[in-house]
Amino acid sequence: MSAGVAERFRELYGAGPRGVWAAPGRVNLIGEHTDYNDGFVMPFALPQSALAAVSPRDDGVLRLHSAEAGGDPVVLRVAALAPGEDRAWTAYPAGVVWALREAGHRITGADVHLASAVPPGAGLSSSAALEVVTALALNDLFGLGLTGTVLARLCRRAENAYVGAPVGIMDQTAAACCEAGHALFLDTRDLSRRQIPFDPAAGGLRVLVVDTRVAHAHSAGEYGRRRAGCERGAALLGAAALRDVRYGELDAALERLDGEPEVRRLVRHVVTENRRVERAAELLESGDLRAVGPVLTEGHASLRDDFGVSCPELDLVVDTALAAGALGARMTGGGFGGSAVVLAPEDAAEGVAGAVREAFAGAGFRAPRVFGALPSAGARRVA
Ligand code: ADP
Ligand code: MG
Repeated sequence: MSAGVAERFRELYGAGPRGVWAAPGRVNLIGEHTDYNDGFVMPFALPQSALAAVSPRDDGVLRLHSAEAGGDPVVLRVAALAPGEDRAWTAYPAGVVWALREAGHRITGADVHLASAVPPGAGLSSSAALEVVTALALNDLFGLGLTGTVLARLCRRAENAYVGAPVGIMDQTAAACCEAGHALFLDTRDLSRRQIPFDPAAGGLRVLVVDTRVAHAHSAGEYGRRRAGCERGAALLGAAALRDVRYGELDAALERLDGEPEVRRLVRHVVTENRRVERAAELLESGDLRAVGPVLTEGHASLRDDFGVSCPELDLVVDTALAAGALGARMTGGGFGGSAVVLAPEDAAEGVAGAVREAFAGAGFRAPRVFGALPSAGARRVA
């Protein structure tokens, strides 16, 4: 695959690239809507990656091309990059160059060709894959010596400030720092992380990702509303963030929020979800993979009933998968569409996938994309 992008780079820019880098999409196993509450998340990297063939330039010119976007390379000047002007896909890689320069790093231009197997807009973080692969390539080519954590922070800055999307730190950290055969336990407050062994195949299990291929239009406004509600909950409880409300204190906290039914439900989700991430990590570390299933399903119920971010398609995946023998299932990502993650015994996986496809057809929904996902490697140089 890296030979193909190098060849395409040569066609576009007239000479071969200095190198080829890869950064994966991710699926969040558990820990949803916890990141902006300073809480815990536990994503793992998908086998699908974004590849970048890149050569440095010293004349201040940045040329960007994407196999999926097509067309001719977009030509920009690094000194003229400014947030808020670019509304196209190029804002992701250009934003990374901008963020690196803002942080004082000397980036004097580059030729970039990107090709990604991460489906965009499916909640599998195609955006962070593009950012991180660009950042890692520039880090190597310009000898910046930055760690994965620092690159992830810069990529998040690019997406927040340059692209204008108010995302947390999970996606970029997952793309930069995940390891094959592991899920990544990340504390989004201090960015400390732990690699948690997660080898479903060795445990006779399969992880299925179901991309519902729907994106309900009201998601941005609803996201803002949930975020504001969480902030209000923390303020009412006198906590810096909901992360600081401990699971053992939950009942008392909910009592104090008696007059605020909506905030109360949001708080209950976040506090129990943080506990579920810790629980899932403990179970994986003790080798009890099957027991993670019910934790996922509980997480879905909490997102559906308390946080209110599921949708009929996601609920149908979960209900159908469980009825067909899955050990657990949940929506993953922000909600209102996107993808679900299913943990199933190896011998039930095909049946689960078939049942979900049938249920979607029966409900008149668009055919979903279903694929198996082994926890894969984070960002790296591949050629
Ligand atoms: P997600 O990260 O969940 O896939 P986002 O909305 O955050 O969804 O990012 C999707 C956007 O990222 C696309 O609309 C597009 O602008 C950009 N993108 C992703 N992959 C590519 C690609 N291969 N080529 C060009 N742009 C891409
Ligand atoms: Mg994204």
